[in-house]
Amino acid sequence: MENLKDQIKLLVELQGLDTHIFRLDDELESIPAAINKKEEEFKEKNTNLKKLEDELKALVVKRKEKEGDLATKEGAIRKFQQQQNLVKTNKEYSALRDEIERAKADNSIIEEDILKIFDEIDAENKSIAKEKDFLKAEEAKFGEEKKRLAAEEGRLKGELEGVKKQREDLAAKVDKNILKKYERIVKNKDGLAVVALKGDACQGCFRVLPPQVANEVKMNEEIIFCEYCARILYSEE
Ligand SMILES: [Zn+2]
Repeated sequence: MENLKDQIKLLVELQGLDTHIFRLDDELESIPAAINKKEEEFKEKNTNLKKLEDELKALVVKRKEKEGDLATKEGAIRKFQQQQNLVKTNKEYSALRDEIERAKADNSIIEEDILKIFDEIDAENKSIAKEKDFLKAEEAKFGEEKKRLAAEEGRLKGELEGVKKQREDLAAKVDKNILKKYERIVKNKDGLAVVALKGDACQGCFRVLPPQVANEVKMNEEIIFCEYCARILYSEE
């Protein structure tokens, strides 16, 4: 074929454009996954706040329990004091006095516990406020990242459109039968149909071909396929 050399040249160019298109497709496909990953990471960061809020709830419950205990004891003290007014003997009186003393001592321990819980609640609230600030910043970062990825997606789509147009124009120049063969190989061979022969090695499968193949490729009389991977060979010279 007189113009086979030109046809092969066109195929090499076409392969370059297709490789570019595949790469852009891959990059475009990776963007939603990248956004999902960022979102998962952000959600993961929210679990610490949930933990802190649960801790706070538990502390409030504990405080209410202690306050209940305190009220019960105070009720008991009042009851003892009323009984004190009714007793007849000193012995009964001092027994009640001892009960009152004990209950008061218990109550001061409970009061201390309650104060301690108040401190813990304060600290927990501070941690929660800090965590919320952190998450707000993280959310802003996540938003920025999403915006950046959306911009990147737009840029890639624009680039893809341009390359596809170039590809269309170029494909129109290729002989129909040769184009059909090329496209079949592209489909079956992971997007790589046209490969150079370097020395005697096919640059598609990297196997060494018999020495006469290099001559056949250089002659450009017919399309030469790699006998191992069936790709179209061309000479870089
Ligand atoms: Zn090969």
